Amino acid sequence: MRYVEEFRDPKAAKALIAAIGAMADRLGATKAEPVRIMEICGGHTHAIFRYGLDKLVHEGIEFIHGPGCPVCVLPMARVDECVEIAEKPEVIFTTFGDAMRVPGTKKSLLQAKADGADVRTVYSPLDALELARRNPDREVVFFGLGFETTTPSTALSIQQAAREGLTNFSVFCNHITVPPPIKALLDDPYMLLDGFVGPGHVSMVIGIHPLDFVAQDYGKPLVVAGFEPLDLLQSVLMVLTQLAEGRAEIENQYARVVPEHGNAVSLAAIEDVYEKRPSFEWRGLGEIDASGLRIRAAYRPWDAEEKFGIGYAKAGGRAPTPEPEGCACGSVMTGRMKPTQCPQFGRGCTPDTPLGALMVSSEGACAAYWTYGGARLSVEAAE
Ligand code: SF4
Repeated sequence: MRYVEEFRDPKAAKALIAAIGAMADRLGATKAEPVRIMEICGGHTHAIFRYGLDKLVHEGIEFIHGPGCPVCVLPMARVDECVEIAEKPEVIFTTFGDAMRVPGTKKSLLQAKADGADVRTVYSPLDALELARRNPDREVVFFGLGFETTTPSTALSIQQAAREGLTNFSVFCNHITVPPPIKALLDDPYMLLDGFVGPGHVSMVIGIHPLDFVAQDYGKPLVVAGFEPLDLLQSVLMVLTQLAEGRAEIENQYARVVPEHGNAVSLAAIEDVYEKRPSFEWRGLGEIDASGLRIRAAYRPWDAEEKFGIGYAKAGGRAPTPEPEGCACGSVMTGRMKPTQCPQFGRGCTPDTPLGALMVSSEGACAAYWTYGGARLSVEAAE
């Protein structure tokens, strides 16, 4: 397929792997003392394992999996709040499919559906909007979830609902932003990172400059990357080259998709509909200041949190969520532990019986290890 095959070319991959190896040797990287590169985005984690890049590159390169899976970083209490809304008899609760099986402290949305709640999978918030038009006697709630990548489409649906006066539509807003958790990780004295593979889809919306602080304030290189194997290999090489040359810059490997200054229409929609919450709870990272978005007062009729008095709008406030016993999701998500080091991996926690979202989300690190354990890019075929 045009524009895909080119980025999976085994000969080009082999050349990049050789260049990465030479650069790793120049940096003195070894298995015992590796160069530690965090891929922030869960989509990158899946691509790395899908193509076996972790095994193909020099043994002195270690990929550290970051917190860039929006389903995974959602604390269990937010899933509980979804279930609480979904179980109201007047509600049709709509969500993207990969949130259906994420466990809350009592049940997932899928289990709530099995228990009789009207929970429906949609492909876009516009599908939820259409459901609201067709069901004027019901409250249709959309589970707004994700980083800057999905935030604009939810904003546009709220703007459209406002234009139509469609007040039986609302959004349970869990949109979050990427820079604050990266800063939290960089401020953690136990996180030893040499550089970053930066988020491609998020940067498509916000541009590359909101990430400038990684280089300017922390002296770490960051390369915004695409999602094909050659994108990732080239990005790793660019990070290593910066390290070898003593540079720390924000570079854009994914320039065919990511504009330097982002997408103006999306940024305007975000600015119109949302404002920053004072703080938001992240699974494994706790409350992080100004890391989540809430719906502005001007759009309050479309804010499910306010409409149902749930979550951060609950009278008396909400309590942080403890991790279930034996669950290492927080450590995996912050790069302290590999999924296979979690005592529950493949034992108490499998895709059929998940303990954490990382095992069932399409961007979860545990799901990547489980699904692609043996996958390899056939570089040998290029001989
Ligand atoms: S294996 Fe399960 S419990 Fe362990 S970190 Fe992964 S999702 Fe969490």
